[in-house]
Amino acid sequence: MSAALTKQDFADYIVPTYKPAILMKRGMGCRLWDDAGQEYLDFAAGISVCNLGHCHPGVTAAIARQAATLVHTSNVFMNENAPELAKQIVRHSFDGKVFFSNSGAEANEGMIKAARRWGWAHGGRHDIICLHDSFHGRTLAALAATGRAKYREGFGPDMAGFTHVPANDLAALEAAITEKTVAIMCESILGEGGVLPLTDEYLRALRKLCDDRNLLLLADEVQAGMGRTGKWWGWQHSGITPDIMSFAKGIGNGFPLGGFVLGRHLDGTLPYLSHGTTYGGNALATAAGLAVMSAMENEGVIDNVHRVSARIFERLNGLRERFPNLITEVRGRGLMIGIEITKTPADLVAAARAKHLLILAAGDKALRLLPPLNISLADADKAIDVLEGVLTEAAKN
Ligand SMILES: *Cc1c(COP(=O)(O)O)cnc(C)c1O
Repeated sequence: MSAALTKQDFADYIVPTYKPAILMKRGMGCRLWDDAGQEYLDFAAGISVCNLGHCHPGVTAAIARQAATLVHTSNVFMNENAPELAKQIVRHSFDGKVFFSNSGAEANEGMIKAARRWGWAHGGRHDIICLHDSFHGRTLAALAATGRAKYREGFGPDMAGFTHVPANDLAALEAAITEKTVAIMCESILGEGGVLPLTDEYLRALRKLCDDRNLLLLADEVQAGMGRTGKWWGWQHSGITPDIMSFAKGIGNGFPLGGFVLGRHLDGTLPYLSHGTTYGGNALATAAGLAVMSAMENEGVIDNVHRVSARIFERLNGLRERFPNLITEVRGRGLMIGIEITKTPADLVAAARAKHLLILAAGDKALRLLPPLNISLADADKAIDVLEGVLTEAAKN
């Protein structure tokens, strides 16, 4: 089907909450090909999802094998993959138990429910403090937690029980705590909000505050997790451990999968039948997750993040020095990179796309780079060459 026809079908039959740009037909590694056979370098990775590149052979084979064996039984029955994947996630994060879901919003929804349920049993507390410019997903509780009002417009009344304070401002956070506060919820790097990292000192102070005031620390690692920042989870850079952590995006490399880890000390918070899901943790999704975990471990992915990240940051900082009137900051960690610019990000995203480089905007002021974590130095250099051209052009106007 031609791109023109597909575009018409999108217009006629798909709710227009997105404006999808190009008709993509095929992907391999960090490359995508459109319906005309044109090749693109993908520095968006399906928004930090296809972290092992498109159609990673190990993940594809695991999905195909599992799809021919057992797809879904519901959680009325056991499958072998879910506890094995849970064990591996726990091994790389902190001791606890996992609840699987299908998306980041659902993972956060469950994490919020777990925190409320714990607060219900610990002093009748239910309020959660979140950060300005955070993003936690599109379900109503995740939206209420999200620190950007525009996402909530028209969907009121907002769910009660959420307050927002500026990121990296400990005094503001302390001042927001009341006798009804049960938890603090944050991303280690605010992704959609503009690739805004929380400082290690701030994260350590949050941990201490939660310990001192008997609050839970909820980490939304949906975007920053799964090796994206150069460690398995963003909070690991600061040496702290959250009480509950949500994950999604990279865990399935494109197969819908998410969930949360509930710290062992919170055992009993979600008893039999207190929460549920039909699909969450089914044999097929968790087979994809297991294949992702084994590739992450066996293919030197996190080492590669460090190597490629150092090169990209060095080059971007060079560009910032060359174009101080265009680039005001280069920030982030690992391969979660934000470039704050004085021009409209959407215009530069479009200019890059015209040169077959796919990047994203984040917030109102930043470009966002989220390449696959196993990208080669050579491909990363190619992408930054293109970006350099786009920025050079933009700096002229
Ligand atoms: C993408 C994202 C979500 C929502 O995930 P969905 O799978 O789109 O529901 C939640 N939190 C963060 C930090 C995200 O980046």
